Amino acid sequence: MHELGIVMNVVEQVDKIAADNGAQKVVGITMEIGEVSTIVPELFLDAFNWAKKRTSYLQEAELEMIIIEGRTYCRACGETYRTTEYGKKCPHCDSPETYLLTGDQVVIKDISAVFEQEKTE
Ligand SMILES: [Zn+2]
Repeated sequence: MHELGIVMNVVEQVDKIAADNGAQKVVGITMEIGEVSTIVPELFLDAFNWAKKRTSYLQEAELEMIIIEGRTYCRACGETYRTTEYGKKCPHCDSPETYLLTGDQVVIKDISAVFEQEKTE
């Protein structure tokens, strides 16, 4: 399960960001996961829930995943199309001269952290 390696990398990065910024704890992480990345979202979430227990700041963090559609651009005819349906061959002109525009990313989009206890008066 290679999701675990990626998750460990993410939680370590976020743990460090939290420490560097003096956060008390991280409550949420939003990630963009491309649908043609190699990530299986269910496995990624399982790995995240395991990995966060091993961090200083992410114990209560919730993971939100935004799945980004894979889109491919065709150099021959200039059209774009859905990668998961047609792969590398353009459905408009049958050309194999195509490249992936978006959909293979695995990136941290947003981090929600708590900085200090609210004062009670
Ligand atoms: Zn084409």
